[in-house]
Amino acid sequence: MNLEKFGFLEEHVPIKNTYKIKGQTRYLLHPKTKEQLLAFLKEQKNTNIPYFILGGGSNIIISDEEYPGVVIELDNLNKIEYQDNFVYVESGVKIQKLCMDIIDHNLKGLEWASGIPATIGGAIYGNAEAYKTETFKYLKSVTYIDKSLNIVTKKKEELSYGYRTSFFKEKKENIILSAVFLFPNGIKEESLKLIEERKKRRIESQPLEYPSAGSVWRNPSNETPTWKIIEELGLKGTQIGGAKISLKHGNFIINTGNATGNDIRNLIQYTSRVVKEKTGIELKLEQEFKDW
Ligand SMILES: Cc1cc2nc3c(=O)[nH]c(=O)nc-3n(C[C@H](O)[C@H](O)[C@H](O)COP(=O)(O)OP(=O)(O)OC[C@H]3O[C@@H](n4cnc5c(N)ncnc54)[C@H](O)[C@@H]3O)c2cc1C
Repeated sequence: MNLEKFGFLEEHVPIKNTYKIKGQTRYLLHPKTKEQLLAFLKEQKNTNIPYFILGGGSNIIISDEEYPGVVIELDNLNKIEYQDNFVYVESGVKIQKLCMDIIDHNLKGLEWASGIPATIGGAIYGNAEAYKTETFKYLKSVTYIDKSLNIVTKKKEELSYGYRTSFFKEKKENIILSAVFLFPNGIKEESLKLIEERKKRRIESQPLEYPSAGSVWRNPSNETPTWKIIEELGLKGTQIGGAKISLKHGNFIINTGNATGNDIRNLIQYTSRVVKEKTGIELKLEQEFKDW
């Protein structure tokens, strides 16, 4: 399969991920347009070469071995367009960029996301959320490629979203191309102040000085938050290889320097097992293993 016709192609390169695991991919493809992405997907159906979509790499745990397929980055899908309070945004745009861009257009609604290294595609996929505000709050619709390779637009109400999940996380075969949000009017100075406050809170409570991928596990509903369960069991500081449960935040695993994907996997499995044995609680993973 000649991949060069589907966009800018790189070979044997690292897979961007915020854990800074040193896994790489045989091919990294940056389609220049959604047509190129569609053309790749059509040909992929005949060859069955494995592929996956990479957003900001901030919620995944990759393998240490080279991925034998095509990692696709949608960084060229980066348009933002405005019509009054409606904002059309393509899935490769970073949520932090969109946050600042809408503020410049005197809108508000993404201040909560200013510390989250996600793309819009990744944020919609997992319905990223902080400070009780979720990605879906101001979302109106999403346009995506479905498994039959049709381009489909669905309203927010049709996308079964919930706490750190959405239709896209449940049905992994769809590729998010773009979204439309409807943001309220805002005042720039107030938004910037809120961002500063949020930033301060994150620095105080999260181990941002180390590579991580945010919260490892979901919080059990109506129960003690995961960080507290881990703290109360004395599991903070547990280390396997280069992976360690942060002393600052019990729901963060950090890479202390040379963590492999396997170290992180082993630490997750060990911690989940101890929590289950000692409390009966079955922790649910929020991060996602990209295995091969
Ligand atoms: C320091 C730090 C703080 C964080 N804080 C928070 C927080 O407060 N709240 C929160 O919710 N999360 C947080 N996270 C986790 C993470 O940023 C979010 O889960 C984010 O939404 C992941 O987006 P991403 O673009 O990095 O996706 P990736 O990690 O690249 O991918 C995640 C999944 O989405 C899929 N995907 C990505 N783009 C598309 C697309 N266009 N179409 C279809 N599938 C796609 C990928 O294939 C993968 O399965 C934090 C992470 C870090 C490192």
